[in-house]
Amino acid sequence: MKATILSITIFLFSFTAFTQNNKKAIFVIVDGIPADLIEKLETPNLDAIAKVGGYTRAHVGGEKGTYSQSPTISAVGYNHLLTGVWTNKHNVWDNDIKDPNYHYWTIFRFLKQEYPQKKAAVFSSWLDNRTKLVGEGLSQTGKLQLDYHFDGLELDTVNYPHDKDANYMHRIDEAVVDNAAEYIRTESPDLSWVYLEYTDDMGHKYGDGPEFYRAIGLMDKQMGRLWEAIQYRERTFKENWVIYITTDHGRDSATGRNHGGQSTRERGTWIVTNAKGLNDYFKTGNPGVVDIMPSIAKFMNVHIPKDQLMEVDGIPLTGRLSAIAPVATIENGKLKLSWKALDKKGNAKIWVANTNNFKTDGSKDEYKLMATVPVSKQSAIIDLKNTTSDFYKIYIEMPENSLVRWVVKEAAQQ
Ligand SMILES: [Zn+2]
Repeated sequence: MKATILSITIFLFSFTAFTQNNKKAIFVIVDGIPADLIEKLETPNLDAIAKVGGYTRAHVGGEKGTYSQSPTISAVGYNHLLTGVWTNKHNVWDNDIKDPNYHYWTIFRFLKQEYPQKKAAVFSSWLDNRTKLVGEGLSQTGKLQLDYHFDGLELDTVNYPHDKDANYMHRIDEAVVDNAAEYIRTESPDLSWVYLEYTDDMGHKYGDGPEFYRAIGLMDKQMGRLWEAIQYRERTFKENWVIYITTDHGRDSATGRNHGGQSTRERGTWIVTNAKGLNDYFKTGNPGVVDIMPSIAKFMNVHIPKDQLMEVDGIPLTGRLSAIAPVATIENGKLKLSWKALDKKGNAKIWVANTNNFKTDGSKDEYKLMATVPVSKQSAIIDLKNTTSDFYKIYIEMPENSLVRWVVKEAAQQ
């Protein structure tokens, strides 16, 4: 009897270990493609991936008109995906990437902290993605090391001379995709980021029209090559892969050449994924680019420590959610909160802090538990009588997920 129990235990243990090591994630940013064009143009490869999981419209730019509003600019958008937070936290405001706030960890750092043996890779048509955003080797990221990278080709003007039609950028994207597909087939990295630039170059140069549309068609073929490599791994090695493909911003509606502002088309993005168990929030909630990081973390069993989770703006796109869409305002010394309940069981614990130590130096904020109300109530009013502050951080802790919001008085700079 004992022997049987022992062998069952060993079997279960190795089965768990197998399913853990078996999970692989890849996220792809294809630059500057508005949702209306993805929907209008033929994209058979994206369609094939979405058929397994789903397609949704999504957004960048934070919450418009609030403290989290973020420029619809490339590096800003990439860092939303990497960190799961908006610009008011990660502090990347443009493509210069002057002073990222590395207290907000990237998915790579969370992965390597918990599973140092897992392999991480970046395949990118822009060097700064690895050296500045992921921050490989920097003291501020704890000298985070990836296991592999393929990037920097834009600096190689001998093999990729910079022609005025930016065809060199397409050739770089091709090299990046080929390298990623080959590396996936042979090495099977656990977490990969693929970044491609050519579509944005064509958007800037030509705006809406055949040249830009052609670039989107080429991108779709590239996604097909990544998808084939993933399917090869799944078939041959019984691995369990998830892919998230998205863009970093839309474009202006007048010409399609520009971006950076807060118009609906500039903020309007999309997500294609093969993920299983996509929730109603993915399907109908207009999710944000910040939701991809916690979705990948959930899939890979990366556990974000509570002090850091209390900062993450995104929520998972798969599985159960207690609630979404929090709104927080202060009126006459009272904090008014509301949310939309999706799974009404259990309680919402409402924690409030009026410090911002995490942003300043990465240390703990002093949260106080101010109220516990049923999730199903979808609102709470909290008397802030003994605290007068221009700034509050709110963390709503629920059975299936948590929500975070700040309340910032207009004059206060946080
Ligand atoms: Zn961009």
